[in-house]
Amino acid sequence: MSVIYDRVALIGLGLIASSMVHAMRRAGLAGEVVGTSRSAETRATAREIGLCDRIVDTAAEAAEGADLVVLCVPVGAMGRVAAEIAPVLKAGATVSDVGSVKQAVIDAVAPHLPDTVHFVPAHPLAGTEQSGPRSGFAELFDNRWCLIVPPADTDPDAVTRLRGLWEAMGSFVETMEAEHHDLVLAVTSHTPHLIAYTMVGVADDLRRVTDSEVVKYSAAGFRDFTRIAASDPTMWRDVFLNNKEATLEILGRFTEELFALQRAIRQGDGDMLHDYFTHTRAIRRGIIEAGQDTDAPNFGRAPKKP
Ligand code: NAP
Repeated sequence: MSVIYDRVALIGLGLIASSMVHAMRRAGLAGEVVGTSRSAETRATAREIGLCDRIVDTAAEAAEGADLVVLCVPVGAMGRVAAEIAPVLKAGATVSDVGSVKQAVIDAVAPHLPDTVHFVPAHPLAGTEQSGPRSGFAELFDNRWCLIVPPADTDPDAVTRLRGLWEAMGSFVETMEAEHHDLVLAVTSHTPHLIAYTMVGVADDLRRVTDSEVVKYSAAGFRDFTRIAASDPTMWRDVFLNNKEATLEILGRFTEELFALQRAIRQGDGDMLHDYFTHTRAIRRGIIEAGQDTDAPNFGRAPKKP
């Protein structure tokens, strides 16, 4: 494949940014990748592993002269970074981000950007519970969706070019309105994470009662919750603070369903439980048929001896 942007600047060098570097390198999509991170420690690690072509000390230095600048920091930090880079942005450059919430990022970033640049927010629906510059890998975005959420007056050519980059990094791409994105993600990602955090919290409370049996005998359901609940605390704090309304809306619906299931259990309503679980099983089948997960038993994990 050929170069799509001559110079790409990545602000923040965690899981998503480092995976972008590997994916761009795999397909030769950027002439040069310049990276920076807030802490000297992360910048030193990135230099040590040769993550980018150049690692610089500030966001402004990275953004200067770049054709594409991607904000890869927690959602709550995007506005401050945009204010820092705004004065040095090259005319005609595209500014994008990878934040898990879109309307709040648009509200925080757009007011800082000059009219001479294109703002094309995006969100790759791909991740792991790992963070930092060492955690990235080229295949992270393969066959995963990337949602591009361009504000109404965005230049279509800038959107097409960014779409081309994400497709060349392995993603399927769809465009969507920000408000809709935030509601969809509240259902598919944000509320499930909150439920996982809660369940692990409950089990942790119980562990004190059962003398660590919860950990020793942890079964697949609980282990999957703990994996999700091990995700980066800063990232997830910012997701909930910035997608408040949609998360609260879905959490309200979740609570109603939970009460309905609770009543069915109390009343011994086996038909209700069976119908419910038949329906949810079909949803899992749909996800596998859409190629978004494996149908290998236990998610393909090899069984381990205790
Ligand atoms: P990560 O691995 O935890 O790395 C976070 C990066 O942001 C680091 O470079 C960190 O710098 C920097 N940072 C943290 N707080 C900052 C602040 N207050 N100001 C400036 N920089 C700060 O994060 P990630 O998983 O790549 O996530 C980055 C973005 O992608 C987030 O907006 C997240 O919502 C989104 N996203 C994540 C996933 C996922 O599953 N992880 C999936 C899709 C989208 P230092 O290390 O130097 O402190």
